[in-house]
Amino acid sequence: MMEAPELTNGTALCLGRALHEGTTSAVGICEALFTRIDVVGDTIDAYLHLDRERILAEAEASDRRRQEGKALSPLDGVPVAIKDNIASKGEPLTCASRSLASFVSPYDATVTERLRKAGCIPFGRLNLDEFAMGSSTENSSRPPTRNPWDPSRAPGGSSGGSAAAVAARLCPWALGSDTGGSIRQPAAFCGVIGLKPTYGRVSRYGLVAFASSLDQIGPVGRSVSDVATLLDLIDGHDPLDSTSWPEELRSVSAALREPAGKGTLGIPAEYYGEGIDPEVREKVSSVAEAYRKMGYRIREISLPRTHLAVPTYYIVATAEASSNLARFDGVRYGHRAEAAGNAVELYFRSRGEGFGPEVKRRVILGSYVLSSGYYDAYYKRAQQVRTLIRDDFLKAFEEVDAILTPTTPTPAFALGEKTGDPLSMYLADIFTIAVNLAGLPALSMPCGLTKEGLPVGFQLIGRPFAEDRLLRNAAAYEKCHPFPDQPDLPVTA
Ligand code: GLN
Repeated sequence: MMEAPELTNGTALCLGRALHEGTTSAVGICEALFTRIDVVGDTIDAYLHLDRERILAEAEASDRRRQEGKALSPLDGVPVAIKDNIASKGEPLTCASRSLASFVSPYDATVTERLRKAGCIPFGRLNLDEFAMGSSTENSSRPPTRNPWDPSRAPGGSSGGSAAAVAARLCPWALGSDTGGSIRQPAAFCGVIGLKPTYGRVSRYGLVAFASSLDQIGPVGRSVSDVATLLDLIDGHDPLDSTSWPEELRSVSAALREPAGKGTLGIPAEYYGEGIDPEVREKVSSVAEAYRKMGYRIREISLPRTHLAVPTYYIVATAEASSNLARFDGVRYGHRAEAAGNAVELYFRSRGEGFGPEVKRRVILGSYVLSSGYYDAYYKRAQQVRTLIRDDFLKAFEEVDAILTPTTPTPAFALGEKTGDPLSMYLADIFTIAVNLAGLPALSMPCGLTKEGLPVGFQLIGRPFAEDRLLRNAAAYEKCHPFPDQPDLPVTA
């Protein structure tokens, strides 16, 4: 039988194999994770909610299916932790907002339903910045998640709970969402792998909308094969999402079994300039060198509109957010203020009490850029610049197969360091948000630790729907550069 450390350290695919061989059970895996959460979980605060009774009941049902030879898939019984903005029927769906503090989802998101069909067990609700707006989880209405490599630092955001839980071995893998970097930036800060799929590849049905033209759900894991497997489980056409890609997609885990195909990696000068931490630059440059040694060609390229990505994103994303969040008015959804004298007062007070400061800032900014008189100057213009940003990438892809950049300009910053300065927080996403504006797939891979022991991540950006190629490139790196295993966490219980 597998022992507890093997169960919590094991990748999802290892756990699936162990279940198949009968060296562990779904109940055994869940109990080992609960114990680990009891022992080190308080240091990290990754989970907002963990219904142990329901999880154990589902694990028992999975073990019974397997005993009867009726396992739903090779992964039947493997737990998956889920960011608390993705619906799971009968569980809280709070988006870490006071406005949804008591909301329970009446249905499953398409991704959750697909995981259940494979027998995977939804395992707890993970912390995030309120409505996925932020880069540190400090905008959560609950205590922030902490970085497992240094609990005084931020795990990144908004999927900070997902990345920290995977890094700290509080779950084998997890789902996050990425609107401007929310999977990749926390993955880089926590030393795990995170993938943002091509826009349209994964259904958004049941993902609480932040900015609908940018949002994508994606996997976070500790091995490239796990990330590929989780993507295969959740992707594919969904008639419930009108922006879902209608064509058949190739299995990315099958693609991993093929040779990497090498090819040319582009290095955009704009991502290596001012403001980047010297250790991050050095680590990511050695990744380029490693690829060169593996037989890839490296070519310098230019993405000249890179400097326009942050302002464009904060117009498009806030405009869409102001419209998406209109439904949390205390009538249709969300916290309802007591004793309001009339309807307008009810809206004002419900939203005023329910939303935190960053969400309010974005709703105000978004309403402003959409308002008559400013629409053409801001929103329409931003949409035009968005097309130019996408054109830069498509032009680059005429010469290169993928683009290699740092995921973030610095390693994890301290909790509290940027909370007083929203602009400096926005700049933490400078390398990730252009990808969302262009709708491209991109992943973050760990590439070592700084002298202070903090993880650094590199980003690979691909052509639309080239996740198979991106993951093969990532696997080639992983094979030669296994990442230093795991953070040393203080025991709290
Ligand atoms: N940090 C970015 C923001 O605050 C991106 C968030 C996200 O990808 N959900 O909007």
